[in-house]
Amino acid sequence: MSSPSAPKFWRQSLLPAGVAALCTWALAAWAGLRLEAQALVTLSTAGLVYASALWQAHRSWQPLLSLWSRLQQAIGQREETYSANLAQDLMHLLQHVEHLAQARRDAAGQLNAILAQINDGVVVMNSPKTVQICNPSAARLFGLDAGQAVGLSLIALVRDYRIVKLWEESQAQHARQQAEIQLGRNGQILHCIAVPMSHSSQAAGMLLIHDLTHARRLERARKDMISNISHELRTPLASIKALSDTLQEGALDDPPAARHFLALMQDEVDALTQLVAELMQLSRIESGREPIQKRVCDPATLLETAHSRMEIQARRKGIALTVSAQCNAPPVLADAERIVQVLVNLVHNAIKFTPAGGRIEISAVPVERQMVRFCVADTGIGIPAEALPRIFERFYKTDASRSREGSGLGLSICRHLVNAHSGKIWAESVEGKGSQFYFTLPQA
Ligand code: ADP
Repeated sequence: MSSPSAPKFWRQSLLPAGVAALCTWALAAWAGLRLEAQALVTLSTAGLVYASALWQAHRSWQPLLSLWSRLQQAIGQREETYSANLAQDLMHLLQHVEHLAQARRDAAGQLNAILAQINDGVVVMNSPKTVQICNPSAARLFGLDAGQAVGLSLIALVRDYRIVKLWEESQAQHARQQAEIQLGRNGQILHCIAVPMSHSSQAAGMLLIHDLTHARRLERARKDMISNISHELRTPLASIKALSDTLQEGALDDPPAARHFLALMQDEVDALTQLVAELMQLSRIESGREPIQKRVCDPATLLETAHSRMEIQARRKGIALTVSAQCNAPPVLADAERIVQVLVNLVHNAIKFTPAGGRIEISAVPVERQMVRFCVADTGIGIPAEALPRIFERFYKTDASRSREGSGLGLSICRHLVNAHSGKIWAESVEGKGSQFYFTLPQA
């Protein structure tokens, strides 16, 4: 079977199909069919005419079948290319979406890491006044976990109407508001800053909280320290001034009186020197500049050394100073010089606050947790119960001892020295009966 030439093929199949298509289209349009229906009828008619023309020309289905298979191939190729392109586009789109999601996750991770490292509290609120973000510092300030805070209302988180008011004002005025607020429940002093975030679609604003409690406490301690030092300096300086005035006004011409006044001035200068030395030592210990060299020491030797240094002083005042006979404590790890200083300070106080005829005993016994407990016990005037928790503070003196010698720094130095040995110091006392000062040191 030979294939028809091109003009013949044109005349026999395509031309009739084209004419049929035109006629069908015109008829369909005249019949008022919709556009899709017109197209369908036209294409079907043209197809039928074309198929029958092919049959006429070849008397076989072969050309139709080959046309059909060529058509399928063409459609297949197009579909393949189309699917491949579509798949590629989809892949790109997915990669882009994944990149965006990753970038979002990275940004959220970075934000959380930054917020977790900030010492100040950061709270981000969304429009309906609920907590959207609360960093760990903010949650800690209000006694919660960061996770617990999210979703709470502001008042439920901060439990202080003044902070909520500050926040509401910043929202109403669209302006940053700040205030220093002292919480009633625990005395914390907070510097709060409320910032509206009008540019954000998700957040209404932010609350920044800076805890000033420690800074204020330090400020106060510094002020107290200056006022205490001034107070301690004033008394001996005033005495020295009065004594030198008396000497100038004529006492110099009376040698025995002059010697007496000079001896008094010497005492005041000694007291001042002692005060300055104690202050300097305290400052060295507090700033970690006082070296502690721990060695294995025998507690009995430490007690004996302190005893021999203070025995004469005690005897002069008519007080019996003894070392306990049952000192069976194991060796401790300590800087012997510093621990003897602690014992001497405690015995010195005991002598100061024990009337003549009294007794002071020093001892050391092993106690639990591999520690040795030292004790200086006296039969002196004792310490009022309300003063006991405060006697280790710098410059603290009980009212009964206000007028006596001493700067109120001795016990504070003892506490620092014992702490530097990983030990603990405390006192027990019954007013009018006597006091016991204890401290512990780790066994070697
Ligand atoms: P000071 O140098 O003034 O003695 P301390 O810090 O050593 O300062 O002591 C603080 C205060 O503790 C003393 O002023 C005194 O009121 C009280 N105190 C210390 N030891 C004794 C003690 N053994 N008996 C009674 N009171 C004591």
